Amino acid sequence: MSSNQPPPLVDYNLFESDAPLRESLEREGAAWAHDLVADLGTLAGTQQAIEWGFQANANPPQLRTHDRFGNRIDEVEFHPAWHELLKVAIGHGLHAVPWREPRPGAHVARAAAFHIWSQVEGGHGCPVSMTYAAVPALRQEPGLAGQWEPLMTTLEYDPGLRPASTKQGVLFGMAMTERQGGSDVRANTTRAVPTGANGEHLLTGHKWFCSAPMCDAFLVLAQAPGGLSCFLLPRVLPDGTRNRFHIERLKDKLGNRSNASSEIELDGAWAVLVGEEGRGVRTIIEMVNHTRLDCVIGSASLMRQAVAQATHHTAHRSAFGKLLSEQPLMANVLADLAIESEATTILMMRLAGAFDRAADPSEAHFRRIGVAIGKYWTCKRAIAVVAEALECHGGNGYVEESILPRLYREAPLNSIWEGSGNVNALDVLRAMQREPESVTAYFSEVETARAADARLDRAIDELKRDLSNSNGVESQGRRIVERMAMTLQAAQLMRHGDPSVAEVFLNSRLDGDWGHTFGTLQPSSQFKSVIERHRPRL
Ligand SMILES: Cc1cc2nc3c(=O)[nH]c(=O)nc-3n(C[C@H](O)[C@H](O)[C@H](O)COP(=O)(O)OP(=O)(O)OC[C@H]3O[C@@H](n4cnc5c(N)ncnc54)[C@H](O)[C@@H]3O)c2cc1C
Repeated sequence: MSSNQPPPLVDYNLFESDAPLRESLEREGAAWAHDLVADLGTLAGTQQAIEWGFQANANPPQLRTHDRFGNRIDEVEFHPAWHELLKVAIGHGLHAVPWREPRPGAHVARAAAFHIWSQVEGGHGCPVSMTYAAVPALRQEPGLAGQWEPLMTTLEYDPGLRPASTKQGVLFGMAMTERQGGSDVRANTTRAVPTGANGEHLLTGHKWFCSAPMCDAFLVLAQAPGGLSCFLLPRVLPDGTRNRFHIERLKDKLGNRSNASSEIELDGAWAVLVGEEGRGVRTIIEMVNHTRLDCVIGSASLMRQAVAQATHHTAHRSAFGKLLSEQPLMANVLADLAIESEATTILMMRLAGAFDRAADPSEAHFRRIGVAIGKYWTCKRAIAVVAEALECHGGNGYVEESILPRLYREAPLNSIWEGSGNVNALDVLRAMQREPESVTAYFSEVETARAADARLDRAIDELKRDLSNSNGVESQGRRIVERMAMTLQAAQLMRHGDPSVAEVFLNSRLDGDWGHTFGTLQPSSQFKSVIERHRPRL
């Protein structure tokens, strides 16, 4: 063994060593899922699973546009490790728990499980997330849902392009973004021409970003005679022939290397209308609401993995005569990172709980605004947290084998996909204007922590005052949303978090006793307990 190098972080249970996640699982009504999540926690810590993550990224997918005879096949070949990762994800229902078992806490259980397994590898989570999210959008067309949902919710991962009726399970993707505009999908130019009864259309045009193109079917936006509409487009037609969905090239992208993101041409591709013609955005927004929750989960999992690695590394490496974790300035950095991670985990689980309880109108209103606030803020914070956790490793963090470079490249994605930062901040303002009940629901949530701490009370009062003065001014969007996010996180931590974590969070995030980088907390005797709470045990 080399001296002063930490032991590898392997053979530990990612769930059992994540106190905020364990506590939230119970609190949000999913104690029944303990074994499912703990099982994934064990698996995620094994050498085998960690290797799959590295192999899937070291061997990027290959596009095969044609076969040897020149026929178009439009297939992407993945490394076996990619398939192993997906087999575990689908086998544990990460794409379908709430649809298979619609019981209280089902979204919470899935969020916890997805949070754990995503720490092994982020890229394969993309088709898992899109399949999960496509179900509620598809349910707007009960006939189609009846046909597809049973296949979308099995625990069988069945890769390969074949007619859905011959498969044990299917995966879904989405294709909205075009070259001329992604945030503003009204600029879509792909055309949908009706071909007869039953909502059948032929789609012609391109999509500039289409991830996981080997999914079995896609929800696609296209311009029908009645306006922008949502369609279900299968890769293979019921008679076994390939739909006219052509993959032009794969993106050479930042982020993970395991997943394929493609540019596609639709050349009279067969598709069927989902929801009302001309109301495509309204139809697909059901999917987007769920993938936005997954962006919060993805960001939380990146932060957790980065903090686990950093607290582990610094607990085993010494410099200048002491363990790094015991050097006062490093302890300040680690504690600062840990409280950010805990605040994100608690918020993620609270939001997932709102999905479970959405039949209650106040929870539905809270979900409406809470997801947009959470997506904006947690995706931004993940980038900073991962970068700082990488630096805690010194040069070792810059080396691919440490996993930190992979986390670092992955971190910005969630803030771009499914509504970039500004678009989400503007969505919060839109919710405030069009659905004032969402603001009421937000404040009743944070008010539940009132009178517990003067700093929090002051932050709530100032936020209320500023919201009534701001009048939804667009240029104020980010300022408003970040305060709403931190006030919400502070209220959650006050009620449910570790007292030391809550204390440090309120002091820094709400009371302003903080600098501009991590590690600028007011010195506190509580750093040690905060760090120990977050350090994984082998
Ligand atoms: C790895 C990856 C995978 C993806 N996979 C898919 C996929 O599978 N399917 C799919 O449909 N799309 C996918 N996307 C596309 C993604 O959803 C879009 O990139 C995103 O929605 C932004 O659209 P855009 O790229 O056209 O940027 P633009 O819309 O041009 O936005 C550029 C910037 O302007 C900001 N902006 C936009 N409007 C405003 C405004 N009114 N005020 C202030 N600022 C504004 C945005 O926040 C953004 O920062 C993927 C993207 C990536 C990076």
